[in-house]
Amino acid sequence: MKHIARKRFGQNFLTDGGIIDAIVRAIAPRPGDPMVEIGPGLAALTQPLVERLGRLTVIELDRDLAARLRQHGQLDVIESDVLKVDFAQVAQALNAPKIRVVGNLPYNISSPILFHLLEQVHVVQDQHFMLQKEVIDRMVAQPATAAYGRLSVMLQWRYAMEDVLFVPPESFDPPPRVDSAVVRMLPYDQPAAVDVALLSELVQVAFSQRRKLLRHTLGRWLEARAYGGAFDTQRRAEEVPVADYVALARSVGGRG
Ligand code: SAM
Repeated sequence: MKHIARKRFGQNFLTDGGIIDAIVRAIAPRPGDPMVEIGPGLAALTQPLVERLGRLTVIELDRDLAARLRQHGQLDVIESDVLKVDFAQVAQALNAPKIRVVGNLPYNISSPILFHLLEQVHVVQDQHFMLQKEVIDRMVAQPATAAYGRLSVMLQWRYAMEDVLFVPPESFDPPPRVDSAVVRMLPYDQPAAVDVALLSELVQVAFSQRRKLLRHTLGRWLEARAYGGAFDTQRRAEEVPVADYVALARSVGGRG
């Protein structure tokens, strides 16, 4: 039976065989890799992946799609909202210290998914995600560019990231209204110890008015935390490198 795409689940199914091959090549699955796919849908990526892996765990929220996927003998299906999935538990079930996570994500919840995985990054080996191109541009943006912001800082301190493939709307059915791309995310082995909630708050305050000097936007926040260090507030939020935000969060949080 033909599945009618559900908009509320962000369903845009990949149909372009060349693009599917290119994504699978970028992921480079090897037999036995402990891999988890978010949002397998109609199995466009799932099938070529599982042919190479032997077995694959998939997380699908749509009940009808999950029922279809359960017919496939090589898939372990978790029927759930990915935002409720405990990836440490999934790793444990796969008997692996770290897992590989992939997926053509539902674009309506892509940032919450990225932050949910950031919280569980200690069990992640690598991530390959298809996302809206504009979101990937923000993830990998460098300081002093229009795309540099909260998402860039919050992800770049923890992952090396690379935009690996452009994907046009015609590659999907139905086609999304935006361009897409695939990003590779490799967690750093030994990231600076930082209070993520504090870093998040700091970056949010700093970028609340990105064009103002930080002494106006951050001044009071720093005073309230009795900060007496050398962080230069004569800059705009968009000019400050990721490492400076991390160093500031560490010293404010008493870990610097
Ligand atoms: N992987 C398929 C492909 O490339 O053709 C489908 C990709 S489609 C963009 C997103 C998929 O994520 C859909 O199958 C949708 O049902 C599923 N999905 C949406 N929200 C979800 C959620 N909160 N948790 C898990 N899966 C979800």
